Amino acid sequence: MRTQRTLRRAISCAGIGLHSGSKVTLSLKPAAAGAGIRFRRSDLGGLEVPATIQHVGGINYATGLTRDAVSVDTVEHLLAALVSLSIDNVVVELNSPEVPIMDGSAAPFIFLIHEAGVKDLGAPRSYLKILRPISLSKGDKRIAIYPSDHFKVTYSIAFDHPLLRHQSRTIRLTEEAFVEEIAPARTFTFLKDVEVLRRRGLALGGSLENAIVVSDTGVLNNALRFDDEFVRHKILDVIGDMALVGHPMIGHLVAHRGGHALHTAFAAQVLEESDAWTLVEGGAVEKAVAPGLVADAPAAN
Ligand SMILES: [Zn+2]
Repeated sequence: MRTQRTLRRAISCAGIGLHSGSKVTLSLKPAAAGAGIRFRRSDLGGLEVPATIQHVGGINYATGLTRDAVSVDTVEHLLAALVSLSIDNVVVELNSPEVPIMDGSAAPFIFLIHEAGVKDLGAPRSYLKILRPISLSKGDKRIAIYPSDHFKVTYSIAFDHPLLRHQSRTIRLTEEAFVEEIAPARTFTFLKDVEVLRRRGLALGGSLENAIVVSDTGVLNNALRFDDEFVRHKILDVIGDMALVGHPMIGHLVAHRGGHALHTAFAAQVLEESDAWTLVEGGAVEKAVAPGLVADAPAAN
């Protein structure tokens, strides 16, 4: 049986917020089984907001969480790293409203988690196993999840730009696959959008140190980490946003041209369509569910 995990010890790093431009110290601290992933603002007397879909706040080119007077922005890359390394329970303490952007990828968070080490908590982990397809479309943006024996993600993007006309990738997510194939992929933006973002008070901490900037003819950064780094980053983003479901999922997630608004709306829809999934412990189906419902439904993909 797969059991819940937390970190072996606390660990910290410092950086700046991509949108706020503010300096921030981030600490990851062990938490008990069942606590989940919680963000704590040490600059607000330790007020907390849990990383769940009920607390999604502003979506401004990043995913934010809000509860009462507490908000935390740009949570998605850190959440992707935590859930992909099966860290179920952790307190994420910040002394500023935004998670540090680091290098624009999830690789620095993977490094932190590996440095802290992982501790098994003995309590069973519940997985959300998809039994029938769930889908959401908005214009030409689409996202869906289908029954599958594993957590897989297929993402495709299409921009009106020669570098990004079409990229598509499917990956079966394991800890190793995430660390090697997805975590290093950096966030990206278009040069023509940078001024617009800044006028809106966003991307104030953005630089070539923490984002790929795409001009009309190429990228301003020296090199890409992968030929298809852009679509890999979209996979990173959707894993982080879907973490707000609160359970690791067993299903095949397929998205086309999505963004944080679509991802988080879909995470909420998945929880609402509770007849489309069942919770299973450590990969075994719970007894309460009628066997016929889960008996090896043919994978849609
Ligand atoms: Zn991102």
